[in-house]
Amino acid sequence: KDIKEEKLSGREFVFKICIIGEGSVGKTSLVKQFSQSMFESEYKSTIGVSIIKNDYGVDGDQVNFQMWDIAGQEKWVKMRHLYYKGAHGALIVGDVTRENTFEQLKEFWNPDLRQFCGEIPKILVVNKVDLHPIISNNEIDNLAHKINVDTTIFTSAKNGKNVEKAFRKLAEDIIVSK
Ligand code: GDP
Ligand code: MG
Repeated sequence: KDIKEEKLSGREFVFKICIIGEGSVGKTSLVKQFSQSMFESEYKSTIGVSIIKNDYGVDGDQVNFQMWDIAGQEKWVKMRHLYYKGAHGALIVGDVTRENTFEQLKEFWNPDLRQFCGEIPKILVVNKVDLHPIISNNEIDNLAHKINVDTTIFTSAKNGKNVEKAFRKLAEDIIVSK
């Protein structure tokens, strides 16, 4: 009986989430770790866009994630509007071992997101924290401020640290913003 009532009271959402950032920061790995609890150390460049679906419970609500994972290097200039269209939230990903990946978030990815989506909930994901960082927390705070994000989450797609937390927090922010 309790289960039934909980199901009735729970809402169901479908959220389109874009995962953006330079090539090789770990976008595909984050999605893979979140959806399949898997990590591959061999790098396979993503071609175009891959869309992965995942069901997830947040506080009694059912969240249906559609995770859009873009290819970083090519930037797929002409198709970008399709990629961003209707996105509810974004994970903006940098690689803690490569400072320029954060520079690129400020110079390219965040302006791109704003152009196509306006201000939608977004989280700064600082990935590869299992490796030696070359960027300081201070620099990361400055960047977060410049790109107007409130939440920064330090992740490792390799060992899974905070990966689920990043997706969950984004879902919560989207629900609150609705
Ligand atoms: P994408 O181009 O942003 O999709 O990046 P990938 O997910 O393909 O990852 C690029 C490379 O970095 C691959 O060799 C991954 O195995 C590696 N990688 C991704 N995330 C992590 C991480 O958190 N820690 C470590 N050590 N390596 C990672
Ligand atoms: Mg990829």
